[in-house]
Amino acid sequence: MDYRGLHERLSGAAEPPIRMPGFQFGALPLDLSTLDSHDLFVLPIPQRRLEELLEDRARSLGILVRRGQEVTTVRQGSDEVTAEVRGPEGTYEVSARYLVGADGGQSVVRKQSGIDFPGITDEDMPLAELRDAVKRVLGAELPMSEPPGAHPALRRTAGINSRQADRYRQGRVFLVGDAAHVHSGVGGPGLNLGLQDVLNLGWKLAAAVHGWAPPGLLDTYEAERHPVGERVIMHTRAQLALLQPGPNTTALRELMTELLADQGNRRHLADLMAGADIRYGTTDTHPMAGRWMPDLALRDGSRVAELLRPGRPVLLDLGAGVAAATWTEWADRVDTVVTTADTPVKAVLIRPDGYVAWATNGSTDGGTDGLREALTEWFGQAGPRRSLTR
Ligand SMILES: Cc1cc2nc3c(=O)[nH]c(=O)nc-3n(C[C@H](O)[C@H](O)[C@H](O)COP(=O)(O)OP(=O)(O)OC[C@H]3O[C@@H](n4cnc5c(N)ncnc54)[C@H](O)[C@@H]3O)c2cc1C
Repeated sequence: MDYRGLHERLSGAAEPPIRMPGFQFGALPLDLSTLDSHDLFVLPIPQRRLEELLEDRARSLGILVRRGQEVTTVRQGSDEVTAEVRGPEGTYEVSARYLVGADGGQSVVRKQSGIDFPGITDEDMPLAELRDAVKRVLGAELPMSEPPGAHPALRRTAGINSRQADRYRQGRVFLVGDAAHVHSGVGGPGLNLGLQDVLNLGWKLAAAVHGWAPPGLLDTYEAERHPVGERVIMHTRAQLALLQPGPNTTALRELMTELLADQGNRRHLADLMAGADIRYGTTDTHPMAGRWMPDLALRDGSRVAELLRPGRPVLLDLGAGVAAATWTEWADRVDTVVTTADTPVKAVLIRPDGYVAWATNGSTDGGTDGLREALTEWFGQAGPRRSLTR
């Protein structure tokens, strides 16, 4: 949200996001106050408010949002994909070069595209068990009956459903958010995971549509995001295990509590839950390459997050003195910012989703070739981009 300029509108405050002093892992307290820095930020906000804000943002960018429309079938041709849609005024078809299924855990787009959704759905809690539990806690019986419908509310609120699409892409169709993965809500990772999918895919689709995507760029979406979904499923299942009753789990909680006395272990879990332990594949071998770009304070008074608000790649020159001739052929796609910051890194190439494509600690001597290679790898061939074809 901050890297797109939406945080202030959500939080109502002018300050940048605040790191959590503590969190929890499967109900075990996670003390983060002694870590010098970490990436766990939490902003409690009703989902309705978030959706309103994102819809406003989409409309301000000229996106047409249609409510009350249901995609019923999806079919692909060699150069376009067509969705049949049922709306209040009847059925019609929409064709486009690409289609993104952001239609939740029961995704019609996923099913219509023949993408499997393997995983585990734990048994519904039986009604009798719920009734007994309520009586035990409240000391009184409450009237309750089976909910109607094929997907009982008991299972959805228990939320013990861990599944992941076996592919995030089928031809011209992509899956994001719950359409691509569902898991327990413990720790609340679902929205972040889905938003990061979208952030990852969005600029790559834009590159393809605007004609400057290098070969294979769209395939990096699945390569980068599928492993992240796997890790969220892993840690939410681990947290669920820690929440179970019984003497064995009590012993496991005791052991985990001992392990959490170690700061390194607390950082490991903080990074895991924040998704900050992700390293996407890059040709560049600098330790920052493939990782989330920290929100450095820059000497000109701005922050890295502010530079990324237009959603474009940024070449941040922090004293390397990169010659204009190195990047000027990408100037229609990549913004260049020259400033300084209190960091050993002298230049960083940042993707629109906030991940580092290339970095150097030295002057550009010997680094220029690597930069041009990274510019080509992520933002296409040098020279003016091809014009928008559709
Ligand atoms: C009770 C509950 C509490 C939760 N709490 C948290 C939390 O605290 N933190 C957190 O991070 N996550 C939480 N989650 C998970 C979070 O809500 C989901 O991860 C998130 O909403 C997924 O977003 P999405 O856009 O991928 O899918 P959804 O939010 O499911 O949106 C899918 C959209 O697609 C539409 N749609 C579906 N089928 C079609 C179709 N055929 N045609 C057209 N449109 C269609 C739906 O109407 C819906 O608007 C919670 C979930 C639940 C159920």
